[in-house]
Amino acid sequence: MPGEIVGIDLGTTNSACAIVEDDGNVKMIPYRGGETTIPSIFAIDEKGNELVGHEAKRQWLLNPRRTIYGAKRLIGRDYQSGFVKKMGEYFAYEMKPGDQGNVIIPIDEAQYNLSQVSAKILNTIRTVAADYLQKPIAKAVVTVPAYFNDRQRQAVKEAGKLIDLEIIRIINEPTAAAMAYGIRQNLNQTVAIYDLGGGTFDVSVIEIRGRTFEVKATGGDIFLGGIDWDNALIRYVIEDFQQKHGVDLTTDPIAMQRIKDLAERTKIDLSARTEAPFSIPFVTMTPEGTPLDINMVITRDKFQELTEPLVKRTVEIADMVVKDAGLGVHQLDEILLVGGQTRWPAVQKAVTEYFGKPPAKSVHPDEAVAVGAALYAHSLDTDAVDQKVQLLDVIPMAIGIESASGDMVEVFKRNASVPNAKSLDTTTSYDNQEEVQVRIYQGDSRRAKENDLLGEFEFSGLRPGPKGSVNVQIVFDCNVEGILTVTAHDKDTGKSMETTVRVQSTEAV
Ligand code: AMP
Repeated sequence: MPGEIVGIDLGTTNSACAIVEDDGNVKMIPYRGGETTIPSIFAIDEKGNELVGHEAKRQWLLNPRRTIYGAKRLIGRDYQSGFVKKMGEYFAYEMKPGDQGNVIIPIDEAQYNLSQVSAKILNTIRTVAADYLQKPIAKAVVTVPAYFNDRQRQAVKEAGKLIDLEIIRIINEPTAAAMAYGIRQNLNQTVAIYDLGGGTFDVSVIEIRGRTFEVKATGGDIFLGGIDWDNALIRYVIEDFQQKHGVDLTTDPIAMQRIKDLAERTKIDLSARTEAPFSIPFVTMTPEGTPLDINMVITRDKFQELTEPLVKRTVEIADMVVKDAGLGVHQLDEILLVGGQTRWPAVQKAVTEYFGKPPAKSVHPDEAVAVGAALYAHSLDTDAVDQKVQLLDVIPMAIGIESASGDMVEVFKRNASVPNAKSLDTTTSYDNQEEVQVRIYQGDSRRAKENDLLGEFEFSGLRPGPKGSVNVQIVFDCNVEGILTVTAHDKDTGKSMETTVRVQSTEAV
Protein backbone atom coordinates (compact mmCIF):
# COMPACT_ATOMS: atom_id res chain seq x y z
CA MET A 1 0.00 0.00 0.00
CA PRO A 2 1.54 3.34 -0.94
CA GLY A 3 1.56 5.93 1.78
CA GLU A 4 3.62 8.06 4.05
CA ILE A 5 6.31 6.93 6.42
CA VAL A 6 6.32 8.35 9.94
CA GLY A 7 8.25 8.08 13.19
CA ILE A 8 6.28 6.97 16.24
CA ASP A 9 7.33 7.28 19.84
CA LEU A 10 5.15 4.65 21.48
CA GLY A 11 5.57 5.87 25.04
CA THR A 12 4.58 4.44 28.40
CA THR A 13 2.62 7.52 29.41
CA ASN A 14 2.27 9.40 26.15
CA SER A 15 2.91 8.71 22.49
CA ALA A 16 3.83 11.04 19.67
CA CYS A 17 4.25 10.96 15.92
CA ALA A 18 6.39 13.00 13.53
CA ILE A 19 7.06 13.16 9.81
CA VAL A 20 9.67 14.65 7.53
CA GLU A 21 7.72 16.78 5.09
CA ASP A 22 8.49 17.22 1.40
CA ASP A 23 10.44 20.38 2.12
CA GLY A 24 12.64 18.43 4.54
CA ASN A 25 11.24 19.97 7.71
CA VAL A 26 10.23 17.72 10.57
CA LYS A 27 6.68 18.18 11.75
CA MET A 28 5.15 16.84 14.94
CA ILE A 29 1.64 15.61 14.17
CA PRO A 30 -0.79 17.71 16.22
CA TYR A 31 -3.76 16.11 17.90
CA ARG A 32 -7.03 17.77 18.66
CA GLY A 33 -6.38 21.02 20.48
CA GLY A 34 -2.87 21.23 19.02
CA GLU A 35 -1.15 18.97 21.54
CA THR A 36 1.65 16.89 20.11
CA THR A 37 1.35 13.95 22.49
CA ILE A 38 -1.48 11.52 23.05
CA PRO A 39 -1.93 9.50 26.24
CA SER A 40 -1.04 5.82 25.68
CA ILE A 41 -4.31 4.69 27.22
CA PHE A 42 -7.04 2.37 25.95
CA ALA A 43 -10.40 1.94 27.66
CA ILE A 44 -13.82 0.44 27.23
CA ASP A 45 -16.56 2.63 28.62
CA GLU A 46 -19.73 1.41 30.32
CA LYS A 47 -21.56 1.29 27.00
CA GLY A 48 -18.88 -0.89 25.47
CA ASN A 49 -17.28 1.84 23.32
CA GLU A 50 -13.54 1.71 22.74
CA LEU A 51 -11.70 4.87 23.77
CA VAL A 52 -8.08 5.74 23.05
CA GLY A 53 -5.85 8.65 24.10
CA HIS A 54 -7.36 11.78 25.59
CA GLU A 55 -10.87 10.31 25.69
CA ALA A 56 -9.60 7.27 27.57
CA LYS A 57 -7.61 9.42 29.99
CA ARG A 58 -10.54 11.71 30.74
CA GLN A 59 -12.67 8.88 32.13
CA TRP A 60 -9.80 7.01 33.81
CA LEU A 61 -10.59 8.01 37.39
CA LEU A 62 -14.23 7.01 36.99
CA ASN A 63 -13.51 3.76 35.19
CA PRO A 64 -10.14 2.50 36.50
CA ARG A 65 -10.80 -1.22 36.04
CA ARG A 66 -11.62 -0.89 32.35
CA THR A 67 -8.86 1.58 31.50
CA ILE A 68 -5.60 0.07 30.34
CA TYR A 69 -2.60 2.31 30.89
CA GLY A 70 1.08 1.44 31.13
CA ALA A 71 0.64 -1.28 28.46
CA LYS A 72 4.23 -0.79 27.43
CA ARG A 73 5.39 -1.95 30.85
CA LEU A 74 3.73 -5.33 30.30
CA ILE A 75 4.23 -6.00 26.61
CA GLY A 76 6.33 -9.09 25.91
CA ARG A 77 6.50 -9.97 29.62
CA ASP A 78 5.87 -13.25 31.32
CA TYR A 79 2.77 -13.26 33.51
CA GLN A 80 4.65 -15.23 36.17
CA SER A 81 7.56 -12.81 36.40
CA GLY A 82 8.24 -10.76 39.50
CA PHE A 83 8.07 -7.69 37.31
CA VAL A 84 4.45 -8.31 36.32
CA LYS A 85 3.52 -9.05 39.94
CA LYS A 86 5.02 -5.76 41.00
CA MET A 87 3.23 -3.90 38.23
CA GLY A 88 -0.04 -5.49 39.38
CA GLU A 89 0.25 -3.41 42.55
CA TYR A 90 0.07 -0.22 40.50
CA PHE A 91 -2.58 -1.19 37.98
CA ALA A 92 -6.28 -1.19 38.84
CA TYR A 93 -7.24 -3.46 35.93
CA GLU A 94 -7.31 -7.23 36.08
CA MET A 95 -4.53 -9.34 34.59
CA LYS A 96 -4.41 -13.04 33.92
CA PRO A 97 -2.08 -15.48 32.20
CA GLY A 98 -2.54 -16.12 28.48
CA ASP A 99 -1.97 -19.41 26.65
CA GLN A 100 1.70 -18.66 26.13
CA GLY A 101 2.44 -17.33 29.57
CA ASN A 102 1.86 -13.76 28.46
CA VAL A 103 -0.34 -11.19 30.18
CA ILE A 104 -4.01 -10.94 29.21
CA ILE A 105 -6.36 -8.21 30.34
CA PRO A 106 -9.99 -9.25 30.44
CA ILE A 107 -12.68 -6.62 30.04
CA ASP A 108 -16.24 -7.94 29.83
CA GLU A 109 -16.23 -10.79 27.30
CA ALA A 110 -13.07 -9.58 25.55
CA GLN A 111 -9.50 -10.60 26.34
CA TYR A 112 -6.76 -8.26 25.28
CA ASN A 113 -3.12 -9.11 25.04
CA LEU A 114 -0.61 -6.27 25.13
CA SER A 115 0.15 -6.32 21.42
CA GLN A 116 -3.54 -5.77 20.80
CA VAL A 117 -3.68 -2.87 23.24
CA SER A 118 -0.59 -1.31 21.66
CA ALA A 119 -2.15 -1.87 18.24
CA LYS A 120 -5.18 0.21 19.32
CA ILE A 121 -2.88 3.05 20.33
CA LEU A 122 -0.80 2.78 17.16
CA ASN A 123 -3.96 2.74 15.09
CA THR A 124 -5.24 5.95 16.65
CA ILE A 125 -1.89 7.61 16.07
CA ARG A 126 -2.01 6.49 12.45
CA THR A 127 -5.57 7.73 11.95
CA VAL A 128 -4.82 11.14 13.44
CA ALA A 129 -1.68 11.44 11.28
CA ALA A 130 -3.50 10.34 8.13
CA ASP A 131 -6.33 12.82 8.77
CA TYR A 132 -3.87 15.60 9.39
CA LEU A 133 -1.70 14.84 6.37
CA GLN A 134 -4.66 13.86 4.19
CA LYS A 135 -2.63 10.85 3.07
CA PRO A 136 -2.57 7.23 4.18
CA ILE A 137 0.24 6.11 6.50
CA ALA A 138 1.76 2.83 5.40
CA LYS A 139 5.00 2.52 7.30
CA ALA A 140 6.64 3.60 10.49
CA VAL A 141 9.81 3.54 12.50
CA VAL A 142 8.73 2.84 16.07
CA THR A 143 10.89 3.46 19.12
CA VAL A 144 11.25 1.24 22.17
CA PRO A 145 13.26 1.60 25.38
CA ALA A 146 16.87 0.53 25.00
CA TYR A 147 16.39 -2.16 27.67
CA PHE A 148 13.61 -3.97 25.74
CA ASN A 149 14.55 -7.57 25.10
CA ASP A 150 13.95 -9.54 21.93
CA ARG A 151 10.49 -10.68 23.02
CA GLN A 152 9.31 -7.19 23.86
CA ARG A 153 10.56 -5.93 20.50
CA GLN A 154 8.84 -8.76 18.66
CA ALA A 155 5.60 -7.96 20.50
CA VAL A 156 5.74 -4.35 19.31
CA LYS A 157 6.26 -5.56 15.74
CA GLU A 158 3.29 -7.84 16.22
CA ALA A 159 1.18 -4.81 17.21
CA GLY A 160 2.02 -3.22 13.86
CA LYS A 161 1.05 -6.39 11.99
CA LEU A 162 -2.33 -6.53 13.69
CA ILE A 163 -3.30 -3.23 12.09
CA ASP A 164 -1.38 -3.67 8.85
CA LEU A 165 1.11 -0.96 9.69
CA GLU A 166 4.52 -1.95 8.46
CA ILE A 167 7.05 -1.25 11.19
CA ILE A 168 10.09 -1.03 8.99
CA ARG A 169 12.46 -0.61 11.89
CA ILE A 170 12.41 -0.63 15.64
CA ILE A 171 14.99 1.69 17.17
CA ASN A 172 15.92 2.54 20.71
CA GLU A 173 14.52 5.71 22.20
CA PRO A 174 17.88 7.23 23.19
CA THR A 175 19.24 6.50 19.74
CA ALA A 176 16.28 8.34 18.25
CA ALA A 177 16.89 11.28 20.59
CA ALA A 178 20.53 11.40 19.47
CA MET A 179 19.38 11.43 15.86
CA ALA A 180 17.03 14.33 16.54
CA TYR A 181 19.96 16.18 17.99
CA GLY A 182 22.62 15.38 15.47
CA ILE A 183 21.48 13.85 12.21
CA ARG A 184 21.78 17.00 10.13
CA GLN A 185 24.59 18.73 11.96
CA ASN A 186 27.59 16.84 10.60
CA LEU A 187 28.93 16.38 14.10
CA ASN A 188 31.88 14.60 15.54
CA GLN A 189 30.75 14.21 19.12
CA THR A 190 30.09 11.76 21.89
CA VAL A 191 26.84 12.46 23.69
CA ALA A 192 25.06 11.06 26.73
CA ILE A 193 21.31 10.72 26.68
CA TYR A 194 19.69 10.94 30.11
CA ASP A 195 16.11 9.74 29.71
CA LEU A 196 13.86 9.96 32.75
CA GLY A 197 10.28 9.18 31.87
CA GLY A 198 7.16 8.21 33.75
CA GLY A 199 8.31 4.80 34.93
CA THR A 200 11.83 4.14 33.79
CA PHE A 201 15.25 5.64 33.58
CA ASP A 202 17.73 5.08 30.77
CA VAL A 203 21.16 6.36 29.94
CA SER A 204 23.03 5.81 26.70
CA VAL A 205 26.35 6.99 25.45
CA ILE A 206 26.39 7.50 21.69
CA GLU A 207 29.14 8.53 19.33
CA ILE A 208 28.00 10.65 16.39
CA ARG A 209 30.29 10.89 13.38
CA GLY A 210 28.48 12.66 10.55
CA ARG A 211 25.58 10.35 9.73
CA THR A 212 26.95 7.40 11.67
CA PHE A 213 25.49 6.74 15.11
CA GLU A 214 27.31 4.26 17.25
CA VAL A 215 25.94 3.36 20.65
CA LYS A 216 28.77 2.72 23.06
CA ALA A 217 26.84 1.62 26.14
CA THR A 218 23.40 1.67 27.58
CA GLY A 219 21.91 1.00 30.99
CA GLY A 220 19.19 2.05 33.36
CA ASP A 221 16.62 1.10 35.92
CA ILE A 222 13.20 -0.16 34.92
CA PHE A 223 11.81 0.82 38.32
CA LEU A 224 12.87 4.43 38.45
CA GLY A 225 10.79 7.21 36.96
CA GLY A 226 8.36 10.05 37.49
CA ILE A 227 6.01 7.76 39.38
CA ASP A 228 8.59 7.51 42.18
CA TRP A 229 8.51 11.30 42.53
CA ASP A 230 4.70 11.10 42.74
CA ASN A 231 4.92 8.33 45.33
CA ALA A 232 7.36 10.30 47.50
CA LEU A 233 4.83 13.13 47.66
CA ILE A 234 1.90 10.77 48.24
CA ARG A 235 3.71 9.15 51.19
CA TYR A 236 4.48 12.55 52.67
CA VAL A 237 0.87 13.72 52.40
CA ILE A 238 -0.51 10.50 53.86
CA GLU A 239 1.87 10.57 56.82
CA ASP A 240 1.03 14.18 57.51
CA PHE A 241 -2.68 13.33 57.44
CA GLN A 242 -2.17 10.36 59.74
CA GLN A 243 -0.35 12.58 62.22
CA LYS A 244 -2.94 15.33 62.12
CA HIS A 245 -6.08 13.20 62.13
CA GLY A 246 -5.02 9.70 63.07
CA VAL A 247 -6.64 8.38 59.89
CA ASP A 248 -4.93 6.02 57.44
CA LEU A 249 -5.95 7.07 53.94
CA THR A 250 -4.24 4.15 52.24
CA THR A 251 -7.27 1.95 52.94
CA ASP A 252 -9.57 4.30 51.03
CA PRO A 253 -9.15 3.72 47.27
CA ILE A 254 -11.14 6.77 46.18
CA ALA A 255 -9.15 9.09 48.46
CA MET A 256 -5.92 7.47 47.19
CA GLN A 257 -6.90 8.00 43.57
CA ARG A 258 -7.56 11.70 44.24
CA ILE A 259 -4.25 12.06 46.10
CA LYS A 260 -2.34 10.35 43.30
CA ASP A 261 -3.87 12.58 40.71
CA LEU A 262 -3.13 15.76 42.64
CA ALA A 263 0.37 14.57 43.56
CA GLU A 264 1.40 14.38 39.93
CA ARG A 265 -0.07 17.80 39.15
CA THR A 266 1.59 19.34 42.20
CA LYS A 267 4.91 17.76 41.27
CA ILE A 268 4.68 19.32 37.80
CA ASP A 269 3.73 22.68 39.35
CA LEU A 270 6.77 22.54 41.59
CA SER A 271 9.05 22.34 38.55
CA ALA A 272 7.94 25.86 37.72
CA ARG A 273 7.22 27.44 41.13
CA THR A 274 8.74 27.31 44.56
CA GLU A 275 5.57 26.24 46.37
CA ALA A 276 2.18 24.82 45.53
CA PRO A 277 -1.04 24.20 47.47
CA PHE A 278 -2.10 20.61 48.06
CA SER A 279 -5.78 20.71 48.97
CA ILE A 280 -8.46 18.08 48.71
CA PRO A 281 -11.73 19.00 50.40
CA PHE A 282 -13.77 16.16 51.96
CA VAL A 283 -11.10 13.58 51.26
CA THR A 284 -12.62 11.26 53.85
CA MET A 285 -14.82 11.19 56.93
CA THR A 286 -14.23 10.36 60.56
CA PRO A 287 -16.16 7.36 61.94
CA GLU A 288 -18.50 9.95 63.44
CA GLY A 289 -19.24 11.34 60.01
CA THR A 290 -17.25 14.59 60.17
CA PRO A 291 -15.69 15.41 56.78
CA LEU A 292 -11.91 15.88 56.71
CA ASP A 293 -9.86 17.88 54.22
CA ILE A 294 -6.28 17.81 53.11
CA ASN A 295 -4.94 21.31 53.30
CA MET A 296 -1.23 21.65 52.78
CA VAL A 297 1.34 23.76 51.02
CA ILE A 298 4.28 21.90 49.54
CA THR A 299 7.48 23.81 48.98
CA ARG A 300 9.96 22.94 46.29
CA ASP A 301 12.65 22.65 48.96
CA LYS A 302 10.63 20.07 50.87
CA PHE A 303 9.89 18.07 47.73
CA GLN A 304 13.53 18.26 46.75
CA GLU A 305 14.51 16.82 50.11
CA LEU A 306 11.97 13.98 49.70
CA THR A 307 13.22 13.05 46.26
CA GLU A 308 16.94 13.60 46.65
CA PRO A 309 17.74 9.86 46.84
CA LEU A 310 16.00 9.34 43.48
CA VAL A 311 18.09 12.01 41.79
CA LYS A 312 21.23 10.56 43.35
CA ARG A 313 20.39 7.11 42.02
CA THR A 314 20.08 8.43 38.45
CA VAL A 315 23.53 9.94 38.71
CA GLU A 316 25.00 6.66 40.00
CA ILE A 317 23.50 4.82 37.03
CA ALA A 318 24.74 7.46 34.59
CA ASP A 319 28.20 7.03 36.06
CA MET A 320 28.07 3.26 35.53
CA VAL A 321 27.05 3.65 31.89
CA VAL A 322 29.76 6.22 31.19
CA LYS A 323 32.29 3.78 32.69
CA ASP A 324 30.80 0.90 30.64
CA ALA A 325 31.42 3.02 27.55
CA GLY A 326 35.07 3.20 28.61
CA LEU A 327 34.95 6.98 28.94
CA GLY A 328 35.35 9.69 31.52
CA VAL A 329 32.69 12.40 31.89
CA HIS A 330 35.01 15.04 30.47
CA GLN A 331 35.03 13.12 27.18
CA LEU A 332 31.33 13.73 26.61
CA ASP A 333 30.60 16.68 24.37
CA GLU A 334 26.90 17.08 25.11
CA ILE A 335 24.21 15.83 27.46
CA LEU A 336 20.71 15.40 26.07
CA LEU A 337 17.74 15.31 28.42
CA VAL A 338 14.70 13.30 27.39
CA GLY A 339 11.50 12.45 29.26
CA GLY A 340 9.05 14.58 31.19
CA GLN A 341 10.68 14.12 34.60
CA THR A 342 13.89 15.80 33.42
CA ARG A 343 12.01 19.10 33.83
CA TRP A 344 12.50 18.77 37.58
CA PRO A 345 15.11 21.47 38.39
CA ALA A 346 17.05 19.23 40.80
CA VAL A 347 17.56 16.73 37.96
CA GLN A 348 18.98 19.42 35.72
CA LYS A 349 21.21 20.65 38.53
CA ALA A 350 22.53 17.17 39.31
CA VAL A 351 23.16 16.44 35.64
CA THR A 352 25.03 19.73 35.25
CA GLU A 353 27.14 18.97 38.30
CA TYR A 354 27.95 15.40 37.37
CA PHE A 355 28.77 16.00 33.72
CA GLY A 356 30.41 19.36 34.41
CA LYS A 357 28.28 21.16 31.83
CA PRO A 358 24.63 22.13 31.37
CA PRO A 359 22.46 19.89 29.19
CA ALA A 360 21.90 20.78 25.52
CA LYS A 361 19.09 23.26 25.00
CA SER A 362 18.18 22.18 21.48
CA VAL A 363 16.46 18.92 22.45
CA HIS A 364 12.76 18.93 23.32
CA PRO A 365 12.24 16.35 26.07
CA ASP A 366 8.81 15.25 24.84
CA GLU A 367 9.39 15.44 21.11
CA ALA A 368 13.00 14.41 20.46
CA VAL A 369 12.25 10.69 20.27
CA ALA A 370 9.46 11.02 17.68
CA VAL A 371 11.48 13.56 15.71
CA GLY A 372 14.52 11.26 15.64
CA ALA A 373 12.36 8.32 14.56
CA ALA A 374 10.91 10.42 11.73
CA LEU A 375 14.36 11.51 10.56
CA TYR A 376 15.59 7.93 10.60
CA ALA A 377 12.43 6.76 8.80
CA HIS A 378 13.06 9.36 6.14
CA SER A 379 16.67 8.26 5.70
CA LEU A 380 15.57 4.64 5.27
CA ASP A 381 12.98 5.62 2.70
CA THR A 382 15.16 7.73 0.48
CA ASP A 383 17.45 6.67 -2.33
CA ALA A 384 19.76 9.63 -1.82
CA VAL A 385 23.08 8.18 -0.67
CA ASP A 386 24.05 11.33 1.22
CA GLN A 387 20.89 10.99 3.33
CA LYS A 388 21.63 7.46 4.51
CA VAL A 389 22.25 6.93 8.18
CA GLN A 390 24.41 4.23 9.58
CA LEU A 391 23.37 2.88 12.92
CA LEU A 392 25.35 0.63 15.21
CA ASP A 393 23.44 -0.13 18.36
CA VAL A 394 23.99 -2.44 21.31
CA ILE A 395 21.94 -5.09 23.05
CA PRO A 396 20.96 -4.08 26.57
CA MET A 397 21.37 -7.51 28.19
CA ALA A 398 23.36 -10.61 27.36
CA ILE A 399 21.82 -13.25 25.09
CA GLY A 400 22.83 -16.84 25.70
CA ILE A 401 21.85 -20.45 25.98
CA GLU A 402 21.28 -22.71 28.92
CA SER A 403 24.04 -25.21 29.60
CA ALA A 404 23.37 -28.71 30.91
CA SER A 405 24.01 -27.44 34.44
CA GLY A 406 21.57 -24.57 34.04
CA ASP A 407 24.18 -21.85 33.66
CA MET A 408 23.89 -19.08 31.11
CA VAL A 409 26.44 -19.50 28.34
CA GLU A 410 26.65 -16.04 26.84
CA VAL A 411 26.57 -15.79 23.08
CA PHE A 412 26.35 -11.99 23.03
CA LYS A 413 27.52 -10.01 26.02
CA ARG A 414 25.68 -7.05 27.46
CA ASN A 415 26.38 -3.97 25.36
CA ALA A 416 27.56 -6.15 22.43
CA SER A 417 27.18 -4.16 19.25
CA VAL A 418 24.49 -5.02 16.72
CA PRO A 419 24.08 -5.98 13.93
CA ASN A 420 26.13 -8.96 15.03
CA ALA A 421 26.32 -12.68 14.32
CA LYS A 422 27.96 -15.40 16.38
CA SER A 423 28.09 -19.12 15.98
CA LEU A 424 28.31 -21.96 18.42
CA ASP A 425 29.49 -25.46 17.56
CA THR A 426 28.01 -28.50 19.16
CA THR A 427 27.86 -32.18 18.45
CA THR A 428 25.58 -35.13 19.02
CA SER A 429 25.66 -36.69 22.47
CA TYR A 430 24.21 -40.11 21.58
CA ASP A 431 24.15 -42.40 18.52
CA ASN A 432 21.74 -41.52 15.74
CA GLN A 433 20.58 -38.39 17.50
CA GLU A 434 17.91 -36.77 15.35
CA GLU A 435 17.52 -33.38 16.90
CA VAL A 436 19.23 -30.70 18.95
CA GLN A 437 17.40 -28.47 21.35
CA VAL A 438 18.53 -25.16 22.73
CA ARG A 439 16.90 -22.73 25.07
CA ILE A 440 17.80 -19.12 24.52
CA TYR A 441 17.65 -16.56 27.28
CA GLN A 442 18.26 -12.86 27.63
CA GLY A 443 19.41 -11.25 30.85
CA ASP A 444 22.44 -10.63 32.98
CA SER A 445 22.01 -13.36 35.58
CA ARG A 446 24.49 -16.23 35.70
CA ARG A 447 21.66 -18.76 36.02
CA ALA A 448 19.78 -19.09 32.73
CA LYS A 449 16.39 -19.54 34.33
CA GLU A 450 16.64 -16.23 36.16
CA ASN A 451 16.73 -14.52 32.77
CA ASP A 452 13.92 -14.10 30.23
CA LEU A 453 13.30 -17.09 28.00
CA LEU A 454 13.37 -15.90 24.40
CA GLY A 455 12.68 -19.22 22.76
CA GLU A 456 13.13 -22.92 22.75
CA PHE A 457 14.58 -24.00 19.46
CA GLU A 458 14.55 -27.51 18.09
CA PHE A 459 16.72 -28.33 15.11
CA SER A 460 15.74 -31.60 13.48
CA GLY A 461 16.77 -33.75 10.56
CA LEU A 462 20.29 -34.53 11.78
CA ARG A 463 22.32 -37.03 9.76
CA PRO A 464 22.35 -40.44 11.50
CA GLY A 465 25.73 -41.44 12.90
CA PRO A 466 27.59 -42.43 16.05
CA LYS A 467 27.65 -39.92 18.87
CA GLY A 468 30.09 -37.09 18.38
CA SER A 469 30.27 -37.61 14.64
CA VAL A 470 27.73 -35.00 13.55
CA ASN A 471 28.86 -31.44 14.02
CA VAL A 472 26.17 -28.83 14.26
CA GLN A 473 26.79 -25.13 13.95
CA ILE A 474 24.16 -22.84 15.46
CA VAL A 475 24.19 -19.30 14.16
CA PHE A 476 22.77 -16.46 16.23
CA ASP A 477 22.05 -13.39 14.18
CA CYS A 478 21.03 -10.25 16.02
CA ASN A 479 19.95 -7.44 13.72
CA VAL A 480 20.22 -3.72 14.33
CA GLU A 481 16.76 -3.76 15.89
CA GLY A 482 18.00 -6.13 18.59
CA ILE A 483 15.87 -8.94 17.16
CA LEU A 484 17.37 -12.39 17.07
CA THR A 485 17.19 -15.10 14.41
CA VAL A 486 18.65 -18.52 15.10
CA THR A 487 19.50 -21.14 12.48
CA ALA A 488 21.57 -24.33 12.45
CA HIS A 489 23.35 -26.42 9.88
CA ASP A 490 25.41 -29.57 9.60
CA LYS A 491 28.97 -28.26 9.66
CA ASP A 492 30.32 -30.98 7.40
CA THR A 493 27.63 -31.07 4.72
CA GLY A 494 26.44 -27.48 5.05
CA LYS A 495 22.86 -28.72 5.07
CA SER A 496 20.43 -26.47 6.98
CA MET A 497 18.33 -28.00 9.66
CA GLU A 498 14.69 -27.58 10.14
CA THR A 499 13.93 -25.15 12.96
CA THR A 500 10.94 -25.20 15.22
CA VAL A 501 10.53 -22.43 17.75
CA ARG A 502 8.38 -23.18 20.77
CA VAL A 503 8.16 -19.80 22.46
CA GLN A 504 9.15 -16.84 20.52
CA SER A 505 6.92 -13.88 20.80
CA THR A 506 4.55 -14.69 23.62
CA GLU A 507 2.36 -12.00 22.19
CA ALA A 508 1.70 -13.88 18.98
CA VAL A 509 -2.03 -14.25 18.52
P1 AMP B 1 7.32 10.67 29.70
O1 AMP B 1 7.26 9.19 29.98
O2 AMP B 1 8.54 11.15 29.09
O3 AMP B 1 6.06 11.19 29.02
O4 AMP B 1 7.36 11.35 31.15
C1 AMP B 1 6.26 11.36 31.94
C2 AMP B 1 6.67 11.73 33.35
O5 AMP B 1 7.18 13.06 33.38
C3 AMP B 1 5.49 11.70 34.30
O6 AMP B 1 5.89 11.10 35.51
C4 AMP B 1 5.18 13.16 34.47
O7 AMP B 1 4.55 13.40 35.71
C5 AMP B 1 6.55 13.78 34.41
N1 AMP B 1 6.51 15.20 34.07
C6 AMP B 1 5.94 15.79 32.99
N2 AMP B 1 6.12 17.12 33.04
C7 AMP B 1 6.83 17.38 34.17
C8 AMP B 1 7.32 18.57 34.80
N3 AMP B 1 7.12 19.77 34.26
N4 AMP B 1 8.01 18.43 35.95
C9 AMP B 1 8.21 17.23 36.51
N5 AMP B 1 7.77 16.09 35.97
C10 AMP B 1 7.09 16.16 34.83
